Amino acid sequence: MNITVIIAASLRTFTNRTPEVRLQADTVGDALQALTDEYPEAARGLYDENGDLRTFVSVYVGDRDIRSLKGVKTALKEGDEIYLIPAIAGGACESVISTDRMKAVTIEEKEIRRYSNHLQLKELSIKGQKRIMAGRVFIAGIGALGGVVAQHLAAAGVGTIGLADAESVSLESLQTQTIHSTRDVDRPRVSSAKDRIKKLNPLVNTVIHQEKLTADNVEEVLGDYDIVVDATDSFVSRYLINDACILQRKPEVFGAMFQMEGFVTILGYGDSPCLRCLYPSPPPAGIVPTCSASGVMNALPGILGAMMAAEVIKLLSGSGEPLIGRMLAFDTWNLRYHLVHTVRDSGCPVCGANPSIRTVQDMDYEDFCGLREDPDEEPIEGIDPEELARRLGNNEAITIVDVREPHERAIHKFPGTLIIPIGQLARRQKELDPGIDTVFVCKEGKRSILAIRTLREAGYTGPMFTLKGGFDAAAQIIFPNEGAWL
Ligand SMILES: [Zn+2]
Repeated sequence: MNITVIIAASLRTFTNRTPEVRLQADTVGDALQALTDEYPEAARGLYDENGDLRTFVSVYVGDRDIRSLKGVKTALKEGDEIYLIPAIAGGACESVISTDRMKAVTIEEKEIRRYSNHLQLKELSIKGQKRIMAGRVFIAGIGALGGVVAQHLAAAGVGTIGLADAESVSLESLQTQTIHSTRDVDRPRVSSAKDRIKKLNPLVNTVIHQEKLTADNVEEVLGDYDIVVDATDSFVSRYLINDACILQRKPEVFGAMFQMEGFVTILGYGDSPCLRCLYPSPPPAGIVPTCSASGVMNALPGILGAMMAAEVIKLLSGSGEPLIGRMLAFDTWNLRYHLVHTVRDSGCPVCGANPSIRTVQDMDYEDFCGLREDPDEEPIEGIDPEELARRLGNNEAITIVDVREPHERAIHKFPGTLIIPIGQLARRQKELDPGIDTVFVCKEGKRSILAIRTLREAGYTGPMFTLKGGFDAAAQIIFPNEGAWL
């Protein structure tokens, strides 16, 4: 069997810094034997003087620890990956707060009471709490995830919390964004969050940035924060924040969620890879819907955000084992989780040995994420809901294709449409009449663009339009008399 052995950074001193070794083996024992044949030094790291596997080295086949399989007798399949992860990978880290800054913090009587839970923990104690109080943490995106992180960090007593967000609180978001309240609807999220933090802990200094992070402002906004939390909801922001953090040498606590699943890791710190090492490019625009377009189970940001806050507290206090070089992936619905090893790419364009990105100004993030229109591509035209309502009212010949998922159509029906999922468009294009206009409808208008691109690639030449703003923008205009939708 062809097998790949992936070696954690802290074990690579035994393999001449090689991160991956490809070899032939039928069992885990054979693979480790072949590895030590090729790199005799590795035997020192892997085996004790009795020839037994060292207990601080975990051996995984895929994501399964061989101790839960058949140990070194575990059989391998073609293409299997073996991970060698020492218990110290991820390891205890040094605090991002210097000793001088920690010493400059004084704890008053009222703070001893307020922070008594941490002071009683030997892992944190006075020094850990002082480092938390000296800390300056920046949170990008103050929606569901960022809101949970902000509340935990405020209650923990983080000295300064920076919040950046350009959006306002919406009614739809209240089910997941528990930092905001019903009366905050339509207020800027940063103002609502600042008020909540002040109520929770008036000792925290909150700095708000009511703007979108861009290549022009990110360096100045991140300024002298110690840690950056990425809780944004767009690939443009994520790659921008990643690059800025690497260039400014700031650790980034990364959290992402999709429906029932969450991911959390630390990027660009110690042995940790950066986002570009893990995902050199984002998925094509429109393929992965945002949370607002796909839904999220409301307790997920609570779980994930609290984990992210715990990572920040570990980095500030310099104790525990932060998720450095590791990523936790968990599925709340089936309650399964995987802790996978993450590996730095020495050829990474931003954190590698010879980086090509030396400033965020080097990058066009919109273009990188496929959001900039290709000048050679025929532009995609949209139709306003008012215009569509008028043409429907005049009984004009027009085909409307609904590309939403069945559960989305169950909430809001659009009568008289042709229902074709995006995946079936190419083979069902004969159902469309190239002689008349076809309008595509999705929830927010983004998947319709993907639908038109898909049909163009499949050779369809009829006139195609997106419904601008999708069903969300059009419902009240096209169906003003329908009342409640459910
Ligand atoms: Zn990288």
